[in-house]
Amino acid sequence: MSFLASGIIQPPITRTSKQVRADTLPMFYGTHTFYFVLRDRYQEETIIERWLSKIGRTNAGRLCKVFAIYTTKQDGKDFTKYTAAAMRKLGVRSGVIELMRTSYPHCACNRCVLRMLTKVKEDSKK
Ligand SMILES: [Zn+2]
Repeated sequence: MSFLASGIIQPPITRTSKQVRADTLPMFYGTHTFYFVLRDRYQEETIIERWLSKIGRTNAGRLCKVFAIYTTKQDGKDFTKYTAAAMRKLGVRSGVIELMRTSYPHCACNRCVLRMLTKVKEDSKK
């Protein structure tokens, strides 16, 4: 399992031919764990919706795990109320989005976020 920030471009191999594309895209979206960090609700919401619109409903439906990382309780509430609902409308299946709050002191830099995600991964193996 690897973590990819949402908004990432599709890997080059998926662009080689129509057939390869048809074979590899389900794998790409179905096997990677995506994440995004909620810093500014309006900005993130736009980025996420743009990303999902771009990959399309079929690929959005293939997503198996998307972590939404937030720092303040209010961000978590807002996400559930607005962004998660918007994501489902764009094809993300229920149970795919996992909301996670950063641990104290709630730093949301890439290093802290990746450390947290790696820990989740290790815990899920136990
Ligand atoms: Zn940090």
